[in-house]
Amino acid sequence: MYTTPFDYHRASSIDDALKMLADNPDAKLLAGGHSLIPTMKLRLAAPSALIDISALDELRGIRVDGDTLILGAGVTHAELVYDKTVAEYAPLLPDTARWVGDPMVRNRGTIGGVIAHADPAADYPASLLALGAQFKLKSAGGERVVGVDDYFMGMFQTALKEGEIVTEIHIPRQLGKGAYEKFRHPASHYAIVGVAVVASPEGVKIAMTGAGPKAMRLDKVEEAIGTDLSEENIQKATADVVDAGSLLGDRFASEEYRAHLAGVLTRRALMRVR
Ligand SMILES: Cc1cc2nc3c(=O)[nH]c(=O)nc-3n(C[C@H](O)[C@H](O)[C@H](O)COP(=O)(O)OP(=O)(O)OC[C@H]3O[C@@H](n4cnc5c(N)ncnc54)[C@H](O)[C@@H]3O)c2cc1C
Repeated sequence: MYTTPFDYHRASSIDDALKMLADNPDAKLLAGGHSLIPTMKLRLAAPSALIDISALDELRGIRVDGDTLILGAGVTHAELVYDKTVAEYAPLLPDTARWVGDPMVRNRGTIGGVIAHADPAADYPASLLALGAQFKLKSAGGERVVGVDDYFMGMFQTALKEGEIVTEIHIPRQLGKGAYEKFRHPASHYAIVGVAVVASPEGVKIAMTGAGPKAMRLDKVEEAIGTDLSEENIQKATADVVDAGSLLGDRFASEEYRAHLAGVLTRRALMRVR
Protein backbone atom coordinates (compact mmCIF):
# COMPACT_ATOMS: atom_id res chain seq x y z
CA MET A 1 0.00 0.00 0.00
CA TYR A 2 1.11 3.59 -0.57
CA THR A 3 1.44 6.12 2.25
CA THR A 4 -0.92 9.06 2.49
CA PRO A 5 0.68 12.28 1.12
CA PHE A 6 3.12 14.07 3.42
CA ASP A 7 5.54 17.00 3.38
CA TYR A 8 9.25 16.28 3.75
CA HIS A 9 11.65 18.47 5.74
CA ARG A 10 15.33 17.83 6.37
CA ALA A 11 16.45 19.12 9.77
CA SER A 12 19.80 20.93 9.88
CA SER A 13 20.30 20.45 13.64
CA ILE A 14 18.57 18.98 16.70
CA ASP A 15 17.27 22.45 17.57
CA ASP A 16 15.96 22.87 14.02
CA ALA A 17 14.14 19.51 14.32
CA LEU A 18 12.69 20.54 17.70
CA LYS A 19 11.43 23.81 16.23
CA MET A 20 9.84 22.00 13.29
CA LEU A 21 8.18 19.55 15.73
CA ALA A 22 6.83 22.44 17.80
CA ASP A 23 5.49 24.14 14.66
CA ASN A 24 3.89 20.93 13.43
CA PRO A 25 2.84 18.59 16.25
CA ASP A 26 1.36 16.18 13.69
CA ALA A 27 4.79 15.63 12.09
CA LYS A 28 6.96 12.55 12.73
CA LEU A 29 10.72 12.31 12.98
CA LEU A 30 12.33 10.12 10.34
CA ALA A 31 15.51 8.28 11.38
CA GLY A 32 16.23 4.96 9.61
CA GLY A 33 12.61 4.72 8.45
CA HIS A 34 12.53 0.96 9.03
CA SER A 35 9.61 1.07 11.44
CA LEU A 36 7.99 4.36 10.45
CA ILE A 37 7.71 3.81 6.68
CA PRO A 38 6.17 0.30 6.98
CA THR A 39 3.72 1.72 9.53
CA MET A 40 2.81 4.52 7.11
CA LYS A 41 2.45 2.10 4.20
CA LEU A 42 0.06 0.03 6.29
CA ARG A 43 -1.82 3.31 6.98
CA LEU A 44 -1.38 2.79 10.73
CA ALA A 45 0.25 6.23 10.77
CA ALA A 46 -0.51 9.17 8.49
CA PRO A 47 1.67 12.12 9.58
CA SER A 48 1.21 15.27 7.53
CA ALA A 49 4.99 15.81 7.50
CA LEU A 50 8.26 13.96 8.07
CA ILE A 51 11.24 15.66 9.70
CA ASP A 52 14.36 13.84 8.53
CA ILE A 53 16.98 13.59 11.30
CA SER A 54 19.01 10.83 9.66
CA ALA A 55 21.83 13.10 8.48
CA LEU A 56 22.40 14.91 11.80
CA ASP A 57 26.00 14.51 12.96
CA GLU A 58 24.87 15.61 16.45
CA LEU A 59 22.93 12.34 16.75
CA ARG A 60 25.80 10.18 15.60
CA GLY A 61 28.92 9.04 17.32
CA ILE A 62 30.01 6.61 19.98
CA ARG A 63 32.08 7.89 22.89
CA VAL A 64 33.06 7.12 26.45
CA ASP A 65 32.77 9.37 29.50
CA GLY A 66 34.45 7.73 32.50
CA ASP A 67 32.72 4.39 32.86
CA THR A 68 29.74 5.31 30.70
CA LEU A 69 29.35 4.39 27.06
CA ILE A 70 27.44 7.11 25.20
CA LEU A 71 25.69 6.31 21.94
CA GLY A 72 24.10 8.92 19.72
CA ALA A 73 20.49 8.06 18.95
CA GLY A 74 21.38 7.90 15.25
CA VAL A 75 23.90 5.08 15.69
CA THR A 76 22.86 2.24 13.40
CA HIS A 77 22.48 -1.41 14.29
CA ALA A 78 25.41 -2.23 11.98
CA GLU A 79 27.67 0.25 13.82
CA LEU A 80 26.80 -1.48 17.09
CA VAL A 81 27.72 -4.85 15.59
CA TYR A 82 31.19 -3.71 14.49
CA ASP A 83 32.32 -0.83 16.75
CA LYS A 84 35.35 -1.67 18.91
CA THR A 85 34.46 0.71 21.76
CA VAL A 86 30.98 -0.81 22.04
CA ALA A 87 32.52 -4.29 22.04
CA GLU A 88 34.81 -3.25 24.89
CA TYR A 89 32.31 -1.35 27.07
CA ALA A 90 29.06 -3.21 26.44
CA PRO A 91 29.67 -6.48 24.54
CA LEU A 92 26.03 -7.45 25.08
CA LEU A 93 25.05 -4.79 22.52
CA PRO A 94 26.85 -6.26 19.47
CA ASP A 95 25.58 -9.67 20.53
CA THR A 96 22.05 -8.18 20.37
CA ALA A 97 22.46 -5.98 17.28
CA ARG A 98 23.63 -8.87 15.08
CA TRP A 99 20.18 -10.42 15.53
CA VAL A 100 18.25 -7.37 14.27
CA GLY A 101 16.46 -7.92 10.94
CA ASP A 102 18.73 -8.34 7.93
CA PRO A 103 21.73 -6.37 6.57
CA MET A 104 19.53 -3.64 5.05
CA VAL A 105 17.65 -3.09 8.33
CA ARG A 106 20.92 -3.09 10.28
CA ASN A 107 22.51 -0.56 7.92
CA ARG A 108 19.64 1.95 8.06
CA GLY A 109 17.84 1.36 11.38
CA THR A 110 18.97 3.25 14.48
CA ILE A 111 19.02 2.49 18.19
CA GLY A 112 17.16 5.77 18.85
CA GLY A 113 14.43 4.69 16.46
CA VAL A 114 14.00 1.39 18.28
CA ILE A 115 13.79 3.14 21.64
CA ALA A 116 11.27 5.69 20.39
CA HIS A 117 9.13 3.13 18.56
CA ALA A 118 9.08 0.64 21.49
CA ASP A 119 7.95 -2.37 19.49
CA PRO A 120 7.24 -5.16 22.00
CA ALA A 121 9.18 -7.57 19.76
CA ALA A 122 12.27 -5.35 19.37
CA ASP A 123 15.57 -6.79 20.59
CA TYR A 124 17.36 -3.94 22.40
CA PRO A 125 14.82 -3.27 25.17
CA ALA A 126 15.78 -6.55 26.91
CA SER A 127 19.50 -5.81 26.64
CA LEU A 128 19.11 -2.17 27.72
CA LEU A 129 17.15 -3.35 30.79
CA ALA A 130 19.86 -5.87 31.69
CA LEU A 131 22.54 -3.19 31.19
CA GLY A 132 20.70 -0.51 33.21
CA ALA A 133 20.72 2.08 30.39
CA GLN A 134 19.56 5.69 30.60
CA PHE A 135 18.14 7.83 27.81
CA LYS A 136 18.73 11.53 27.24
CA LEU A 137 15.61 13.24 25.88
CA LYS A 138 15.66 16.79 24.53
CA SER A 139 12.77 19.16 23.95
CA ALA A 140 12.41 22.89 23.30
CA GLY A 141 12.09 23.26 27.09
CA GLY A 142 15.37 21.50 27.96
CA GLU A 143 16.86 18.06 28.55
CA ARG A 144 16.07 15.22 30.91
CA VAL A 145 17.48 11.76 31.53
CA VAL A 146 15.14 8.80 32.06
CA GLY A 147 16.24 5.37 33.31
CA VAL A 148 15.26 2.33 31.28
CA ASP A 149 13.03 0.97 34.10
CA ASP A 150 10.82 4.05 33.87
CA TYR A 151 11.09 4.61 30.13
CA PHE A 152 9.36 1.61 28.53
CA MET A 153 5.75 1.79 29.66
CA GLY A 154 3.86 -0.65 27.44
CA MET A 155 3.23 -1.76 23.87
CA PHE A 156 4.54 1.13 21.71
CA GLN A 157 4.31 3.30 24.85
CA THR A 158 7.23 5.16 26.38
CA ALA A 159 8.01 8.10 28.64
CA LEU A 160 8.88 10.13 25.52
CA LYS A 161 6.62 13.19 25.41
CA GLU A 162 5.30 15.06 22.41
CA GLY A 163 7.99 17.37 21.07
CA GLU A 164 10.89 15.35 22.56
CA ILE A 165 13.78 13.73 20.73
CA VAL A 166 15.90 10.85 22.03
CA THR A 167 19.42 12.24 21.66
CA GLU A 168 21.68 9.83 23.58
CA ILE A 169 21.76 6.41 25.18
CA HIS A 170 23.99 6.10 28.25
CA ILE A 171 25.20 2.65 29.26
CA PRO A 172 27.20 1.93 32.39
CA ARG A 173 30.29 -0.13 31.58
CA GLN A 174 29.28 -3.78 31.48
CA LEU A 175 31.08 -5.65 34.24
CA GLY A 176 31.29 -9.30 33.30
CA LYS A 177 30.00 -11.33 30.40
CA GLY A 178 26.75 -10.83 28.48
CA ALA A 179 24.70 -12.89 26.04
CA TYR A 180 21.56 -12.37 23.97
CA GLU A 181 19.61 -15.38 22.71
CA LYS A 182 16.61 -15.12 20.41
CA PHE A 183 13.99 -17.24 18.72
CA ARG A 184 13.07 -15.10 15.75
CA HIS A 185 10.08 -14.97 13.47
CA PRO A 186 11.28 -16.60 10.24
CA ALA A 187 9.84 -13.86 7.97
CA SER A 188 10.09 -10.58 9.91
CA HIS A 189 13.09 -11.64 12.05
CA TYR A 190 11.55 -9.85 15.06
CA ALA A 191 11.79 -11.64 18.42
CA ILE A 192 9.14 -14.22 19.22
CA VAL A 193 11.14 -14.30 22.44
CA GLY A 194 14.57 -12.80 23.16
CA VAL A 195 16.52 -13.06 26.41
CA ALA A 196 19.45 -10.88 27.50
CA VAL A 197 21.76 -11.79 30.37
CA VAL A 198 24.58 -9.90 32.07
CA ALA A 199 26.62 -11.77 34.68
CA SER A 200 28.86 -9.86 37.08
CA PRO A 201 30.53 -10.93 40.33
CA GLU A 202 27.47 -9.52 42.20
CA GLY A 203 24.99 -11.70 40.32
CA VAL A 204 23.01 -11.81 37.10
CA LYS A 205 20.57 -9.46 35.38
CA ILE A 206 18.14 -11.13 33.02
CA ALA A 207 15.52 -9.49 30.80
CA MET A 208 13.14 -10.83 28.18
CA THR A 209 11.51 -9.24 25.12
CA GLY A 210 8.84 -10.36 22.65
CA ALA A 211 6.72 -12.19 25.19
CA GLY A 212 4.67 -9.34 26.65
CA PRO A 213 3.59 -5.75 25.97
CA LYS A 214 7.08 -4.59 26.96
CA ALA A 215 10.42 -6.10 27.91
CA MET A 216 10.56 -7.43 31.48
CA ARG A 217 13.17 -8.44 34.02
CA LEU A 218 13.12 -12.11 35.08
CA ASP A 219 13.69 -11.32 38.77
CA LYS A 220 12.67 -14.75 39.98
CA VAL A 221 15.43 -16.39 37.93
CA GLU A 222 17.94 -13.70 38.89
CA GLU A 223 17.32 -14.49 42.57
CA ALA A 224 17.42 -18.26 42.02
CA ILE A 225 20.76 -18.00 40.20
CA GLY A 226 22.40 -15.57 42.61
CA THR A 227 26.11 -16.00 41.90
CA ASP A 228 25.88 -19.76 41.34
CA LEU A 229 26.31 -20.30 37.61
CA SER A 230 26.86 -24.04 37.89
CA GLU A 231 25.09 -26.09 35.24
CA GLU A 232 22.98 -27.78 37.93
CA ASN A 233 21.78 -24.45 39.30
CA ILE A 234 21.08 -23.05 35.82
CA GLN A 235 19.02 -26.14 34.96
CA LYS A 236 17.09 -25.82 38.24
CA ALA A 237 16.53 -22.05 38.04
CA THR A 238 15.33 -22.14 34.42
CA ALA A 239 12.89 -25.06 34.79
CA ASP A 240 9.97 -22.64 35.10
CA VAL A 241 11.09 -19.06 34.41
CA VAL A 242 7.76 -17.35 33.83
CA ASP A 243 4.03 -17.95 34.25
CA ALA A 244 2.55 -18.54 30.77
CA GLY A 245 -0.65 -16.76 31.87
CA SER A 246 1.24 -13.46 32.10
CA LEU A 247 2.57 -13.67 28.53
CA LEU A 248 1.41 -12.62 25.10
CA GLY A 249 -0.15 -15.24 22.84
CA ASP A 250 -0.81 -14.61 19.15
CA ARG A 251 -0.98 -16.42 15.83
CA PHE A 252 2.81 -16.79 15.82
CA ALA A 253 3.21 -18.44 19.24
CA SER A 254 0.91 -19.33 22.12
CA GLU A 255 1.51 -18.16 25.70
CA GLU A 256 2.67 -21.68 26.62
CA TYR A 257 5.12 -21.86 23.71
CA ARG A 258 6.57 -18.45 24.61
CA ALA A 259 6.97 -19.59 28.24
CA HIS A 260 8.80 -22.69 26.99
CA LEU A 261 11.06 -20.56 24.75
CA ALA A 262 11.77 -18.21 27.65
CA GLY A 263 13.14 -21.16 29.65
CA VAL A 264 15.24 -22.52 26.79
CA LEU A 265 16.70 -19.14 25.82
CA THR A 266 17.42 -18.09 29.41
CA ARG A 267 19.24 -21.39 29.93
CA ARG A 268 21.28 -20.93 26.71
CA ALA A 269 22.21 -17.34 27.57
CA LEU A 270 23.20 -18.27 31.13
CA MET A 271 25.35 -21.17 29.89
CA ARG A 272 27.21 -18.70 27.65
CA VAL A 273 28.09 -16.28 30.47
CA ARG A 274 29.49 -18.89 32.89
C1 LIG B 1 12.10 -6.21 7.66
C2 LIG B 1 12.39 -5.63 9.03
C3 LIG B 1 12.87 -6.46 10.01
C4 LIG B 1 13.14 -5.96 11.28
N1 LIG B 1 13.61 -6.81 12.23
C5 LIG B 1 13.87 -6.34 13.47
C6 LIG B 1 14.39 -7.19 14.47
O1 LIG B 1 14.66 -8.38 14.25
N2 LIG B 1 14.59 -6.67 15.70
C7 LIG B 1 14.34 -5.35 15.99
O2 LIG B 1 14.55 -4.93 17.13
N3 LIG B 1 13.87 -4.51 15.05
C8 LIG B 1 13.63 -4.96 13.81
N4 LIG B 1 13.17 -4.10 12.84
C9 LIG B 1 12.97 -2.68 13.17
C10 LIG B 1 14.27 -1.90 12.99
O3 LIG B 1 15.12 -2.20 14.06
C11 LIG B 1 14.03 -0.39 12.94
O4 LIG B 1 15.20 0.15 12.46
C12 LIG B 1 13.73 0.27 14.25
O5 LIG B 1 12.64 -0.30 14.92
C13 LIG B 1 13.39 1.74 14.09
O6 LIG B 1 14.53 2.49 13.88
P1 LIG B 1 14.59 3.53 12.70
O7 LIG B 1 15.86 4.28 12.87
O8 LIG B 1 14.39 2.80 11.43
O9 LIG B 1 13.39 4.49 13.08
P2 LIG B 1 12.21 5.11 12.20
O10 LIG B 1 11.47 4.04 11.51
O11 LIG B 1 12.73 6.23 11.36
O12 LIG B 1 11.31 5.73 13.37
C14 LIG B 1 10.55 4.91 14.22
C15 LIG B 1 9.77 5.82 15.18
O13 LIG B 1 10.66 6.43 16.10
C16 LIG B 1 10.60 7.85 15.99
N5 LIG B 1 12.01 8.29 16.15
C17 LIG B 1 13.08 7.86 15.44
N6 LIG B 1 14.20 8.39 15.95
C18 LIG B 1 13.84 9.16 16.99
C19 LIG B 1 14.55 9.94 17.94
N7 LIG B 1 15.88 10.06 17.92
N8 LIG B 1 13.84 10.59 18.90
C20 LIG B 1 12.49 10.49 18.98
N9 LIG B 1 11.76 9.76 18.10
C21 LIG B 1 12.43 9.10 17.14
C22 LIG B 1 10.01 8.14 14.62
O14 LIG B 1 9.35 9.37 14.59
C23 LIG B 1 9.05 6.97 14.49
O15 LIG B 1 7.86 7.24 15.20
C24 LIG B 1 12.90 -4.58 11.57
C25 LIG B 1 12.41 -3.74 10.56
C26 LIG B 1 12.15 -4.26 9.30
C27 LIG B 1 11.64 -3.34 8.23
